[in-house]
Amino acid sequence: MLQFQNSILEMIARGEELQATIEDLCRRVEARFPGIACSVLSVRDAKLYPIAAPSLPASYTSRLVGVPIGPMVGSCGAAAYYGIPVTVTDIEIDVRWQHYKQFVVPIGFKACWSTPIVAADKVVATFAFYFREGREPTDGEREIVNACVHLCAIAIERDERVCERERLTYTDALTALANRARFNKVLAERKLSEGANGVRPWGLLLADLDNLKLVNDTFGHAAGDALLQTVARRLATAVSMENSFRLGGDEFAAIVDADDMPALAAKAEALIREIKRPAECDGHVVFPAATIGGALAANAVSASQVQRDADIALYHGKERCRGQYTGYFVGMGTALTRRFRAIRDVGVALSENRIEAHYQPILRLDTREIVGFEALARMRTRKGERLSAAHFHEATLDAHVAAQLTDRMLSLVSADMRRWLNMGLPLQHVGINLSAADFRSDDLHSRLTAAFAAAGVPLRHVILEVTESVYLGERDHVVADEIKVLRSMGFRVALDDFGTGFASLTHLLTVPVDIIKIDKSFVDRLVPADAGTVIVEGVMSIATKLGIRVVAEGIETQAQADHLRSLGCLLGQGYLFSKAVDPLTAKHLLSTSAQRPGFAKGNHDGTAV
Ligand code: C2E
Ligand code: CA
Ligand code: CA
Repeated sequence: MLQFQNSILEMIARGEELQATIEDLCRRVEARFPGIACSVLSVRDAKLYPIAAPSLPASYTSRLVGVPIGPMVGSCGAAAYYGIPVTVTDIEIDVRWQHYKQFVVPIGFKACWSTPIVAADKVVATFAFYFREGREPTDGEREIVNACVHLCAIAIERDERVCERERLTYTDALTALANRARFNKVLAERKLSEGANGVRPWGLLLADLDNLKLVNDTFGHAAGDALLQTVARRLATAVSMENSFRLGGDEFAAIVDADDMPALAAKAEALIREIKRPAECDGHVVFPAATIGGALAANAVSASQVQRDADIALYHGKERCRGQYTGYFVGMGTALTRRFRAIRDVGVALSENRIEAHYQPILRLDTREIVGFEALARMRTRKGERLSAAHFHEATLDAHVAAQLTDRMLSLVSADMRRWLNMGLPLQHVGINLSAADFRSDDLHSRLTAAFAAAGVPLRHVILEVTESVYLGERDHVVADEIKVLRSMGFRVALDDFGTGFASLTHLLTVPVDIIKIDKSFVDRLVPADAGTVIVEGVMSIATKLGIRVVAEGIETQAQADHLRSLGCLLGQGYLFSKAVDPLTAKHLLSTSAQRPGFAKGNHDGTAV
């Protein structure tokens, strides 16, 4: 007996699996009492789950999985239910066995004696003896079962502690979702595609909350925690608990079934819609917003590549289209590398004073008089080449570099403007390009006014160009409010690249601007029978009625210029007239070809905008 106990305790101490330990225990007992079969069933949430029953057929024990305990559920179900030993000496006729006797009577068992195993005051399992004779247990059997029950209780308690520790290691405490460690494990074990083991085609979605920091900062951490819990709940509902993960901070992940990219996108978009619903967080109403990146397992060679792809997609999404889904495509990584290079190059160029302001004239299409300039950034390389902004403007997707670039351009442009005004040149206005990042800083208007005030340039000479995508960006109300403030301070605002995004003319009513710059792609489509003509016509007529000036960009041919004029467009810029020129040439152009306010030719009112 002592030796038996010791060897079981040793197994427990060694950390053997619960099942192996209990099975060993059963076999030893069965060896000592020939003809008897042992079974140990665990009891969780008032349901039975077999742990070991080495001499009972699997066809029987498998029936017991998840069966609720109860007075009529055999000896074990009843023992667990009442918390006391139950002896049934004639299974054949005992009403408690009526639903189960057909599994054991045919294999020769006549009686069953089950003892509850109690740990921490609750029944955690049952220990049963199946007899081949209709009888009660002997004293010797009672003695060994007492010992077994005790040993099982120790083994089960220990196993529960281990499981709990494991659960904690793999669970995020705040949201109860599986954590990053679990995610890594699941992903590493995940097969890429359908094989013999029947894995469904799947994809990975990585989600990043856009407004956790804002919620933390404005409403406090309790609200931030509540936001995370809400999003976790919504994720688990939309996907499933076992395939949802919180990777840390405001990052979540989900593994979803998806055959192809459109299917993955549909899942992601449904998820975004679900997450977006207003939520109550610590007494505040919050509109959760998430950016999601996704990749398909079928397009990758390893699970870790799926993760990398989804990461790249998320990164792209966070910079370009927050609050939306971005799917990975081949080449996205290269674009990312190119962007990183641009960011680094512009950063270095800024610190080495190799950023210059060049000026592209904006002219009246009828008289070709210059009415203003658009300031365009140029980067001088160390070798002395001059790169146009198209080569590096991706760098303006980086908030830090973008803000620095704007500040540098502001100081260069305001200084040039001051110089021209001092010379008495007929300078009407210069346009400055702003990027999305500029609107993310909350001191944009003070940065702008400070720069022009320092140079003594009146704000009426300044046009701020905001691209359509920024104007309609994810925080459009922020941009809209800022645009209103800027206009009230005396700046004029131009809506740049009009027609390339989704700005509709109705947006002009909610966020008024002074100027619309029709994108080159429309100018290129000003050929007979192309819808481009109709669209430009429509824009012209509405803009005129709203008192908005229109500038056509990228005019390269006289035919385009004539066509635009015939459509009522008064102003344009493009290589037909001039590329962007250095400040000295710009000064020269101003003195020779600029429209002098008050001396306007033709029917124009004298000032361009
Ligand atoms: P954008 O604001 O639409 O500027 C017009 C771009 O079209 C300029 O390219 C200009 O040189 C080019 N362009 C003008 N006329 C023609 C033409 O007739 N044909 C063709 N093919 N192109 C023409 P650039 O200077 O390379 O600038 C590219 C973009 O970079 C700009 O587009 C603007 O979004 C951005 N950018 C330029 N300078 C700055 C800046 O100082 N700050 C910020 N944030 N962005 C800038
Ligand atoms: Ca522009
Ligand atoms: Ca433009």
